[in-house]
Amino acid sequence: QKSVWIGTNWKMNKGPAEAIAAARAFSNFHLPEGVRCFLTPPATSLRDVCSVLQDTPVMVGAQNMFWEDSGAWTGEISAPMVAECGASTVLLGHSERRQHFGETDWTVNRKVRAALRHGLRPLICIGDTADEFEFGVSQETLARQTKIALHGVSQEDLGRVVVIYEPVWAIGSAGRPAEAPFVSEIHTKLRGVVQGVVGRNSSVRIPLLYGGSVSQANICDYVALPDVDGVLVGRAGWDPADFIKLVSRVG
Ligand code: 13P
Repeated sequence: QKSVWIGTNWKMNKGPAEAIAAARAFSNFHLPEGVRCFLTPPATSLRDVCSVLQDTPVMVGAQNMFWEDSGAWTGEISAPMVAECGASTVLLGHSERRQHFGETDWTVNRKVRAALRHGLRPLICIGDTADEFEFGVSQETLARQTKIALHGVSQEDLGRVVVIYEPVWAIGSAGRPAEAPFVSEIHTKLRGVVQGVVGRNSSVRIPLLYGGSVSQANICDYVALPDVDGVLVGRAGWDPADFIKLVSRVG
């Protein structure tokens, strides 16, 4: 039986008080067999959420970080800082960062390598825009983003990487969930791209997650697909009771 990854990205929601309450609600929940669960609180709530969940199997991650360890980089946080908060993972290259904050394939690659250097698991987000989808070049975009993100990563470190396909056109209240057959096709091709990077004979199976308007109504359609190893949820996971319901659907 394959493990199923289910994460919720809190985005710019939940300051420390609200984040602690949400994490507490989740700390007593017994995860179903085979489910690997993660939360990504905002940076200012990271340490508190890590403390609440430290003795549980729930992984906690940052939503972004910079690639240098320290120095004159006003407003940034580094991989050692994320790790010191108790987080084990970090989202990198989320489309909201690519769209609004100048993240590029090149910066994502630097961040992926910095995360791995400091023992963090990078959760690498890739995604096609509505225009790319319209023009039929989604595959090309996803292959480019994936290959550049993983460039220079050692075989050993590849075993700690997760790739998340989040079509930009499927994210948020203005988005529409991608149809399961489309996600299936994309993920199968993505598996080929990843295999090309990892090498045919390697036993490394990088988990491939889907994200974008995942809800209680459609989560099972995605996790049933052979090349989908889980989902990343936004809105449908912000309320802890909703997130528990989502996880329970899969378990
Ligand atoms: P929604 O589930 O709200 O569409 O957000 C998806 C997402 O961006 C998760 O990172």
